[in-house]
Amino acid sequence: MTDETLDAFLAAVPLPGLVIDASERIVAANSDALALIGQQARGQNFVTIMRQPALLEAIETTLAEGTARTTQYLSNDGAQDTTFRVSCRMVRGLGLGAAGLVVVTFDDITDKEQASQMRRDFVANVSHELRTPLTALMGFIETLRGPARNDPEAGARFLDIMQNEAERMNRLVGDLMSLNRVEGEERVKPTQNIVLNDILNSTLHTLQHLARDADVAFEVEYPESPVSMIADGDQLKQVFTNIIMNAVKYGGSGGKVTVRVTESAREPVLRAPGVRIQIIDYGAGIDPIHLPRLTERFYRADDHRSKELGGTGLGLAIVKHIINRHRGRLRVESELGQGTTFTVILPIQESF
Ligand code: ADP
Repeated sequence: MTDETLDAFLAAVPLPGLVIDASERIVAANSDALALIGQQARGQNFVTIMRQPALLEAIETTLAEGTARTTQYLSNDGAQDTTFRVSCRMVRGLGLGAAGLVVVTFDDITDKEQASQMRRDFVANVSHELRTPLTALMGFIETLRGPARNDPEAGARFLDIMQNEAERMNRLVGDLMSLNRVEGEERVKPTQNIVLNDILNSTLHTLQHLARDADVAFEVEYPESPVSMIADGDQLKQVFTNIIMNAVKYGGSGGKVTVRVTESAREPVLRAPGVRIQIIDYGAGIDPIHLPRLTERFYRADDHRSKELGGTGLGLAIVKHIINRHRGRLRVESELGQGTTFTVILPIQESF
């Protein structure tokens, strides 16, 4: 087999691939491989072209011993770092002398690597979020057993703090379970017939005491006739609870939260019949730099305030997944000092 036939053969391989002979020369390579390791690679010694020690060692071992090896190759495609799983295999009997050739193929595993990095980050975040209240609890238990053993007043105070910390952990675990559930259901179409006004009214009723404590009045603006649609009622209630609760918690200084519903026969964003639910507060607002990342897990625009108010940092991540499941959209507009508007846009008919 000539170098040209090897090239023709490699051109049909759907991965970057190249062939190295016993004299360590790159004798053939397809265009994907050349794009990866350099256009001038053909005919060169592989050691001068691929400078990563793990890959060089794998190729050398396969050349010397004939055993298959796999390793990783790290590169960058101009936009991001990329990772390849590289396989080195010996081929004999192609008529190019007794010595075999080494076929090297590169499998792009960047997505898998990124997914596992995200998983590691998530576990690190969860551990960190749980550790803070846990450390506080352990500290207070020790104090109650030791210095504060005979001080019932301090004991009662510490128990209050311990209850708060335990509740924070409970909320975090609850939100993690919700997030897990809504992520798992994201591809399952909602099938319930619901009346949106009922869901909103029931949400506002549940949050009434929170609003009263924060001196916030709810104001509702509904269309003349109730909005019926197909959705998952419990999940929509969770969406509105999370957003309205945030409006009260973070925007409560405005004294009022408006819930405005508008129905449209052709919602421009969806290009289909839809409904917009706007939750408007008149409080501190959110710096625009935070807006693109607001629905990321554990992202907080104001870390200190969120923790002080018992936030888990997961509320809007849950909201995003539920809205995705309903094939809807979430828009956030805010101006510092003027307040924030969260707009949930949902399709009304089964236009999935
Ligand atoms: P948290 O549990 O921290 O409230 P969320 O995911 O619900 O987490 O919200 C993420 C962050 O977005 C909050 O920490 C807060 O900084 C910010 N935020 C959400 N809603 C508002 C709002 N109405 N006004 C100001 N900031 C808000």
